Amino acid sequence: MAIERITVAQADEDDQVLEITLRPKDFANYIGQRRIKQNLQLAIAAAKKRGEALEHVLLYGPPGLGKTTLASVIAHEMGANIRITSGPAIERAGDLASLLTNLQDGDILFIDEIHRLHRTVEEVLYSAMEDFKLDIMLGKGPSARSLRLDLPKFTLIAATTRTGELAAPLRDRFGMIHRLEFYSPKEIQVIIERAAKILHVKIDAKAAHELALRSRLTPRLANRLLKRVRDFADINGDGTIDTSISLQAMELLEIDELGLDPTDRLLLAAIIENYKGGPVGVETLAALTAEERTTIEDFHEPYLMQIGLIERTSRGRKTTPKAHAHLGKTKTTKQQRLI
Ligand code: ADP
Repeated sequence: MAIERITVAQADEDDQVLEITLRPKDFANYIGQRRIKQNLQLAIAAAKKRGEALEHVLLYGPPGLGKTTLASVIAHEMGANIRITSGPAIERAGDLASLLTNLQDGDILFIDEIHRLHRTVEEVLYSAMEDFKLDIMLGKGPSARSLRLDLPKFTLIAATTRTGELAAPLRDRFGMIHRLEFYSPKEIQVIIERAAKILHVKIDAKAAHELALRSRLTPRLANRLLKRVRDFADINGDGTIDTSISLQAMELLEIDELGLDPTDRLLLAAIIENYKGGPVGVETLAALTAEERTTIEDFHEPYLMQIGLIERTSRGRKTTPKAHAHLGKTKTTKQQRLI
């Protein structure tokens, strides 16, 4: 694809710098997710009152919705230290053991992408979560013996895009399980206006609203789009973002009025043109669009379903009449066409 993919799911290096600057630190600045916030505030207040560590928390939902941010907000509100790692980064049981033994009472361990944890590591986590004990095997063969170590009373906060892939014994060990929802356009607008203030960018309310409509109801995307539009406004105007500047920038990035990128449109066109609207299996879609299956499942599909353009059935994905209507009025460039 000629253009840079602005809507990719994961944070790149640039984002990481931006995200640290923009990441809200406390509940007051964490926009939306009202129900989850209320539940967590209650649990935090109760844990603090009893002088105990917070129960283990599992957060799930599509990328960019604020799982990592929420984990650091919880740590801030608990007055606790947080250690951030991810499933694939913990390769051996020994890596987990050293992480856990270096924690202190009340500390928070955040494991992103917990569904990618190795099985052997996962099993060590069970007794750590349940009894705050660490079982280590010393030696091999007949002379092997196991050692039980006491661990600090820590809180595990884990994040995943796929709860379905978590083993039941792991899931059961979380005291709280919360699904993050997509944000409303209004909430995304507030996030954009807050980010603009922090970055000293001038944006009018109408332009912030237009950007919000194109941000896939996802804070990470909203921040990323704001940054791109700011660049565009610096080069093509006096740096102020108005509606005209933001729409021109969106056009350049090939993001349409529903926030769809060329890959979303390609996916919809693949189902409509090649399979008369579906159902189509995800493997076929991955082959037709040359995208990873996980990217389709974790990133594209949840949003397309959220805004009612596709439906998931037991036999595969189907497009809705709304998708047909949308593609009908969006011009499909040659590059996006399948044949
Ligand atoms: P995830 O862990 O779910 O992939 P992140 O927590 O990394 O998502 O969120 C990405 C960025 O979006 C954060 O750096 C932050 O700037 C912004 N963000 C996420 N949630 C919120 C929120 N509720 N309010 C304001 N900004 C948010």
